[in-house]
Amino acid sequence: MSTETLEFQAEARQLLQLMVHSIYSNKDIFLRELISNASDALDKRRLAGLKDESLRADDLHIAIETDKDARTLTVRDNGIGMSRDDVVGLIGTIARSGTAETLRKLRESRESRENGQNGENRESAELIGQFGVGFYSTFMVADNVTLLTRKAGEEAGTRWESDGSGTYTIETVEDAPEGTSVTVHLRPKDEEDALYDYTEDWKIREIVKRYSDFISFPIRMGDDTLNSMKALWARPRSEVEDEEYREFYRHVTHDWTDPLEIIQMRAEGTFEYEALLFIPSRAPHDLFQRDGSHGVQLYVKRVFIMEDSRELLPDHLRFVKGVVDAADLSLNISREILQQDRHIQLIRRRLAKKVLSTIKDLMKNDAEKYRTFWREFGPAVKEGLLSGTEDHKAILDIASFASTASDEPTSLADYVARMKDGQDKIYFMTGESRAQIENSPHMEAFRAKEYEVLLLTDPVDEIWVEAVQAYEGKEFQSVARGAVDLPSDEELSEEKSGAYAALLTWLSEALDEVKDVRLTTRLTNSPACLVSDVDGMTPTLEKMYRAMGQ
Ligand code: ADP
Ligand code: MG
Repeated sequence: MSTETLEFQAEARQLLQLMVHSIYSNKDIFLRELISNASDALDKRRLAGLKDESLRADDLHIAIETDKDARTLTVRDNGIGMSRDDVVGLIGTIARSGTAETLRKLRESRESRENGQNGENRESAELIGQFGVGFYSTFMVADNVTLLTRKAGEEAGTRWESDGSGTYTIETVEDAPEGTSVTVHLRPKDEEDALYDYTEDWKIREIVKRYSDFISFPIRMGDDTLNSMKALWARPRSEVEDEEYREFYRHVTHDWTDPLEIIQMRAEGTFEYEALLFIPSRAPHDLFQRDGSHGVQLYVKRVFIMEDSRELLPDHLRFVKGVVDAADLSLNISREILQQDRHIQLIRRRLAKKVLSTIKDLMKNDAEKYRTFWREFGPAVKEGLLSGTEDHKAILDIASFASTASDEPTSLADYVARMKDGQDKIYFMTGESRAQIENSPHMEAFRAKEYEVLLLTDPVDEIWVEAVQAYEGKEFQSVARGAVDLPSDEELSEEKSGAYAALLTWLSEALDEVKDVRLTTRLTNSPACLVSDVDGMTPTLEKMYRAMGQ
């Protein structure tokens, strides 16, 4: 077939532009990205071989070659490879959602840097990390990249080539080996910067050791294997450098921001597993999307089995990333079986417990990290209050809420400790914002009598307060609902009601929509307020349902 010239999708083109202009100061990472892709492809190949005998391959590995005269560097793998359509779809476009938005921010941060406002590349690096720039990072160092690939089990191969401007060429070739090789043609040598000579063997060794040592396939240059291939989750924590964990995190998540917390676990005995979990420092943009990429990687005895396994952690902890390596599962395990497997359910319970207790420790020992955690993931964690009851206590223990007591959020334990004599309920009000709630007439009496009220502004708060009865034996009570009997309400004597009886009757007849009209001591400034029935919905919940058309 003849050579076709195709255009990069608009967003891909923008991203390439940014790469060509090197928004990221550390160019070494292009090699890590190529190795990471090769490793993913080898994982897929090994898995395909387990499922289909005819796709089994020996000696899965990555090979790196350099050519000083031609100024090229090639990364070759005998992994799963790509079909022609794969290449067009995967390399020519950026399919991930949120990319356009991220690109816009990237460009802004770059422009502000050019205007001398920000000498740091950090922000850009973080932004890139949101979608892992991957393959395109080669254009930081290359003026031309070719990719030759053949998908396992297919006859014809594909050759792709681009100089990183608007277009690429693609052709079908007959003689491609199975797997993929990427050849980077390096830009002319920068004499002043020997650090960036990627045709030097020492340079390649250094990069592989630093970024890719844990890759579980041999990375070879000539006859040498450059990496130790030790699974990071199998090594004792005391022997692993923090930087190694961070690199591994990047490899697993494609997130270039450092993780907030690292959790390592090991269980021995009847059911063995090892887990290396990470709590990211930032919520992904798809945290609340049903089809978002959530969950951890599942390995069985060091063999990669699947990405985004949601069965290993409850839904409200879906943002946790990392690896679970279970010793006693079948290599052929499917998602359907996972969902029912008793051992998996056991692991899930243990992991969830451990994650929640880790957060509890953070709360005690590292207030700032805890605050970041709760800001980013609190709304997801609170979903756990809606399902089952197992983690309710642990979740309420690590929750914090805005409160009338101060500008800082408070834990429930602290709220309870501050409760006034005779107060037996935890008062709260839900709404859209702190300001909106604080201006509500419902708050007047509580403010006047100095009862602390929790200000709940996440949509999920509307729902869990219905599902959860109490914390430490103290019931939750909405201040916007029914007769809240503040201790002084008894002051409303019958006599006084009697004096207003005619007015009350007239009001309830005149106001068709209202169920009842009552005297109250809950107001201090406002003449009247609307409250929901004891069993009715809170105003915000009512609004939510109405918005949903119910
Ligand atoms: P990411 O790895 O984050 O998905 P990349 O830009 O690094 O993004 O790669 C895009 C896609 O191209 C990969 O998801 C993969 O499907 C495909 N790909 C890249 N390199 C290889 C390779 N060596 N073998 C097979 N597929 C590859
Ligand atoms: Mg990649």
